[in-house]
Amino acid sequence: MQLTFCGAAGEVTGSCYWLQGAWGQGLIDCGMFQGGMRADLKNRAPFPFNPRQLDFVILTHAHLDHSGLLPKLAAEGFRGDIYCTMATADLLGVLLPDSAHIQEKDAEWRIKHHRGRMRPNATALYDAAAAEQALKLLRPQHYNQPFSPVEGIQVTYRDAGHILGSAFVELQYQTKSGLRTLVASGDVGQPSRPIVKDPAFPTHADYLLIESTYGNRLHKSMAETLDELTEAINITRRYGGNVVIPAFAVGRTQDMLYLLGQLTEEGRIDDEWQIYVDSPMATKATDITLHHFEDLDTETQLALSHNGHRFLKRVHFTETVEDSMAINKIPGGAIILSASGMCDAGRIRHHLRWQLPHRKNSVVIVGFQAMASLGRRLVDGAKKVRLFGREVEVAARIFTIGGLSAHADQAALMNWAGHLQTPPRNTWVVHGEAQASASFRDLLGSKWLNVAVAEAGATCDLSD
Ligand SMILES: [Zn+2]
Ligand SMILES: [Zn+2]
Repeated sequence: MQLTFCGAAGEVTGSCYWLQGAWGQGLIDCGMFQGGMRADLKNRAPFPFNPRQLDFVILTHAHLDHSGLLPKLAAEGFRGDIYCTMATADLLGVLLPDSAHIQEKDAEWRIKHHRGRMRPNATALYDAAAAEQALKLLRPQHYNQPFSPVEGIQVTYRDAGHILGSAFVELQYQTKSGLRTLVASGDVGQPSRPIVKDPAFPTHADYLLIESTYGNRLHKSMAETLDELTEAINITRRYGGNVVIPAFAVGRTQDMLYLLGQLTEEGRIDDEWQIYVDSPMATKATDITLHHFEDLDTETQLALSHNGHRFLKRVHFTETVEDSMAINKIPGGAIILSASGMCDAGRIRHHLRWQLPHRKNSVVIVGFQAMASLGRRLVDGAKKVRLFGREVEVAARIFTIGGLSAHADQAALMNWAGHLQTPPRNTWVVHGEAQASASFRDLLGSKWLNVAVAEAGATCDLSD
């Protein structure tokens, strides 16, 4: 079998690994490149394979950097099966149409605002019909139950503990020298995080692909993180203001709801706070999370069965634009969770416009903020930001809480890989920026032989 790195090699986004063997061809993940013009060009470049000749795609989880090019694949003639877990299939049902909508809007905007000599990309990367086409090809599977996408290959999903439905892949195939196992980590979660279970561990791999998003960093403990969150909320309470929390619709919003519930139950924050989830996508993702009770960790299951319904009663899920606008009239005592998580789009921008100019309010940043995003400027201490074509003064307090990552840190990744009974023949470090991947390679390489950072476009032989 041969494996070609089509993305997430030397960078975080664009996860896509092309497998070729006597049995045919397939992909693990078909992700989108994210972050500016260069990513857009890469998303538009022809696939290095012929989509019509692929037999299957094995998806690790719903995040767009792993699934976002499935509509393009379907639009270009792929008619094979797309395997994923049950919860991933449900999340994709929301995420892929939304992604298509964003692509269509972006294309419209580029044409409208086109002034230079260069012709902009007039067409959307893909449209709603392509997203629907991809969704029809989904073949949901249970965790821990082997399935066979084609004769000669057997795949098992194990819980990766990263977001709802996330999995790592154990793929078994025959070679001349015997049965071999390829393990692809997908994105590995950090243990002891709310909602999702802790990651399961691989026990055997002849070949390993391992993510390295935080391959050079350690996260703060959950206890420290909760202390910081409590303090941010209680300070705002003393000043009588509102708390705005920009949160990714899938994952982080549900984490925050759980943690706010926990802090209220423990009496660490006032139970008079009114909590608003103001993002249609976050509301849908919360529904899907509640529907996959069996995939949630024991603490969340317990909390939901004992007091969850009571807690959820104090959470307002806004739907209409009018409901959303009404929140802006609340002078204090509201915790507003809204997307996008990096403040660059969506309803969060309206809330920031209203809440930022007042000293009594707070913005609590709980997720990763990419370079050049509005959220990053707030974290970096900007005194003024531009919103809707206007300068908005930043008088509100900005709290940055860094401990809530959905990705394993260096120690958790080492622990995860350390569960393999014997070192793999080859290990490729993927899904990380150059520095993170290199430092993780050095660390793992000090224990095992044949550890390398994956090279974009390179093909490796997995037949030995
Ligand atoms: Zn992910
Ligand atoms: Zn990822």
